[in-house]
Amino acid sequence: MKAAVVRDFTKPLEIEDREVPAPAPHQVLVRIECSGLCHTDIHAAHGDWPVKPSPPFVPGHEGVGIVEAAGPDVRHVKVGERVAIPWLADACGRCDYCVTGWETLCLAQHNSGYSVDGAYAEYALAHGDYVVPVPEGVDPMDAAPLSCAGVTTYKAVKLAGARPGTRVLISGIGGLGHLALQYARIFGAETVAVDITDDKLKLAEDLGADHVVDARIQDVAHEVQKLGGADGAVSLAVSNASFRAAYDSLRRGGTLALVALPAEGELTLPVFETVLNGTKVVGSIVGTRQDLAEVFRLHQLGRTKVIRETRKLEDVNACFEDVLAGKVSARLVFDLR
Ligand code: NAD
Ligand code: ZN
Ligand code: ZN
Repeated sequence: MKAAVVRDFTKPLEIEDREVPAPAPHQVLVRIECSGLCHTDIHAAHGDWPVKPSPPFVPGHEGVGIVEAAGPDVRHVKVGERVAIPWLADACGRCDYCVTGWETLCLAQHNSGYSVDGAYAEYALAHGDYVVPVPEGVDPMDAAPLSCAGVTTYKAVKLAGARPGTRVLISGIGGLGHLALQYARIFGAETVAVDITDDKLKLAEDLGADHVVDARIQDVAHEVQKLGGADGAVSLAVSNASFRAAYDSLRRGGTLALVALPAEGELTLPVFETVLNGTKVVGSIVGTRQDLAEVFRLHQLGRTKVIRETRKLEDVNACFEDVLAGKVSARLVFDLR
C-alpha cells in the first residue's frame, strides 16, 4: 500500500510502498477513501510541539474509509461499514476522565498520525471502539474534515459559551475556523470572523458572519469592543499575536477557548484585568466520539457545509506549503479512492 511517511522533522515526507498491516484482535483494518490535511499534521511532521512523535510515522487523523477486516474482539462496527479515524485513536476507557465524558483528557490515550500511524495511507489500523461510524448521506470527502476540524470546533464553540444573545469571535477562518463559524451560528450567536487573507474574509462573509475583521489592517480588539465586546472567543489562528487580540476582544465574564497550537505557542495575561473582568481562559482539545457523532448528524441534516479541495497523496509536500502560505480555500482532502 501507498503511505506518506515522516522520516525526519527537517525533511519532506516520503511516499513509500508498505505492507498492508493485519488487525490485532481489538482492531479494524480500514481501506482509506479520503484523508483530510489538518494543520496539526504539519506541526507533527515538523516536530513543533514539546511532546514529539517518533519518526518514522504516518500522519493523518481525518481518515475516512471502509472497514475491510476486523479482529475477533470488535463488536460495534462491521466489515463494509464506513468509519472515521479521528485524533483520539484510543483511550483507557476506565479512568475518571474516560467515564465522565472527558476521554479526550485520558492520560493513557494514543493519537492517530502522532503516537500511532495515521490515515495518510491506503490502509490504516484503528481501535474498533474508537472509530466513529459515518452515517449514510454524509459524503466521505466531507466526513474527513469533520473528523477533526468539525469535532474540534463543535466542542470549542460550546466551551466558549455560544448561545442566542451572545457575541462570539472566531479568530482564523481556515480548516477549523470555517466550521467554527458555522457552529457558532447554529448555536445562535452573533459572529465576528477574523483572518488575514482576502479569500478567507470573503469565505467568512459567504458563510454568514455578522462582522468580518481584517487583522492585517484593523485592530481586532478595538473593532470588537466597538460592538460591545465578545462573550466568547475561539483561537484558531496559528499566531501568538492573535491569542492576545482575542483575549483583548472579550467583554467582562467572557471566555477565550484556546485551540491553535503554534510552535512555542504562548499567551501572556495581565492578572489584574483577568481577575477584575472575571475572564475565563480554557484549553480545548478535539472532542469525544459522541461530539463527532453529533457533528455528523448536523451535517447529515444539511446544517453545515465543508469547504474543501481534493488533492493527491503524492502531492503532500506541496500541500503542506500551500496550507502554510494560506493558499487553500479551507481544507485539503486527499482522495485515495
Ligand atoms: P489553517 O492553516 O487551515 O487555518 C489557520 C487560519 O488562520 C488561516 O485561515 C490563516 O489565514 C489564519 N490566520 C493566520 N494568522 C492569523 C491572524 N493573525 N489572525 C487571524 N487569522 C489568522 O489551520 P487549521 O487546520 O484550521 O488548524 C489551526 C490550528 O489548530 C493549528 O495550530 C492546529 O494544530 C490546531 N488544532 C488544534 C486542535 C485542538 O484540538 N486543540 C485540533 C485541530 C487543530
Ligand atoms: Zn486535526
Ligand atoms: Zn482513560
